[in-house]
Amino acid sequence: KKIKEGLKKTRDAVVGQIDSMLKSFTKIDDELFEELEELLVMGDVGVPTAEKICKELRERVKKEGIKDPSEITSLLKEIIADMLRGGEELDLATSPSIILVIGVNGVGKTTTIGKLANALSKEGKKVILAAADTFRAAAIEQLEIWADRSKCEIIKQKEGSDPAAVIYDAISAAKARQADVIICDTAGRLHNKKHLMDELSKINRVIDRELPDASKEKLLVLDATTGQNAVNQAEQFREATGITGIVLTKLDGTAKGGVVLAIKDGLGIPVKYIGVGEQIDDLQPFNPDAFADALFS
Ligand code: GDP
Repeated sequence: KKIKEGLKKTRDAVVGQIDSMLKSFTKIDDELFEELEELLVMGDVGVPTAEKICKELRERVKKEGIKDPSEITSLLKEIIADMLRGGEELDLATSPSIILVIGVNGVGKTTTIGKLANALSKEGKKVILAAADTFRAAAIEQLEIWADRSKCEIIKQKEGSDPAAVIYDAISAAKARQADVIICDTAGRLHNKKHLMDELSKINRVIDRELPDASKEKLLVLDATTGQNAVNQAEQFREATGITGIVLTKLDGTAKGGVVLAIKDGLGIPVKYIGVGEQIDDLQPFNPDAFADALFS
């Protein structure tokens, strides 16, 4: 239900327009596919992915002998769900496992960490938070509030300290207390790519050395309301440090839900979680079928 509410804006704007466009056609022809492709591009799906969807749709229409434009919607839903499937599950096989959370300020990184810590704690996992965004005192304070709320331990040092040292401490604490998951906040300063890269590679070296066999996730948090800008950020971070998955936040506040497709199909990076509100339980594991259903229902 939450995901339906969360996708309301995208559904009303993008899918609503597709629906009324389809109603204006009495038969399926080239013009219909062209208009559909245009609406998909306007819906932040990205040009290559919009083309791919329409190509697939043409083939399916031909193969299945479909004549009625009203049947396009359900095909579209299937194609989109298929496209979104794969890689959405978080790998937390080992205890401890470690999740590095990266992303520029304001995208919802701290909130996401808090929600994730809460969800994993509820599953019975022992979670430790590492306050490795040492650049801003406010970031450490914010994370403490979330640690309180989700009742998990937080490892921190003072503002300005070495992020890799904070993560080292968190790993030691996790080993000593048999924690299941370490979630690490990091500073997000994309304007200084060299610095960010150096900082993240130092962190990664510590993690690889201290937890050579652990399950590791590098989650990039992106703000869906920024549309194409979010897609660009994903490309830049991937170049700078490599990422295992995306958390796409603020889907509830935007009609740009199509960026999920631009990221998953266009960039080939799996979306693992979506944010559909500001409350503690508004972070959801990404479910491709539920997502496609919510778009078209
Ligand atoms: P950070 O600077 O990246 O750590 O960002 P914060 O976690 O402080 O979040 C910035 C703002 O975005 C806060 O007001 C959050 O409540 C809000 N926010 C985060 N995720 C979501 C979401 O999924 N939906 C909505 N509507 N707001 C969100």
